[in-house]
Amino acid sequence: MTVATSEKIPPAWGTIIYMGIIHFIALFALIPSNFNWNALGIAFVLYVLTAGVGITLGFHRLVSHRSFTVPKSLEYFLVFCGTLAGQGGPLDWIGLHRIHHQYSDKQQDPHNSLKGFYWSHLGWMLCKNPANEYITRYSKDIS
Ligand SMILES: [Zn+2]
Repeated sequence: MTVATSEKIPPAWGTIIYMGIIHFIALFALIPSNFNWNALGIAFVLYVLTAGVGITLGFHRLVSHRSFTVPKSLEYFLVFCGTLAGQGGPLDWIGLHRIHHQYSDKQQDPHNSLKGFYWSHLGWMLCKNPANEYITRYSKDIS
């Protein structure tokens, strides 16, 4: 795989606007009249279900790495939970994750940690990542 290595990567405006709106709306939870413990509890349960069960278990361990097998109906449920996490669809997430593992901390790694803390945790999501054009190759088995 050859990835263009230009330092000037164009912004992904769709993602930037989505992330901005989601975080702006989340700020309303900090207004004392909007806060309640039940809502916080529901948010925690949804976080565990989407990020924990959906992304970590479904997208990552089950489908990206095929670390274990489950009945197809459970696999679909776990992947569905992952789609609710707001991290994009399974094809993009899994394709990029497989590229990340193949080129971990090298130039082709979509969230190369050698480019710094900001890039490896947030910056890579807010740009049109050069690795995006290789996603279909890495997610062919699940498409
Ligand atoms: Zn992994």
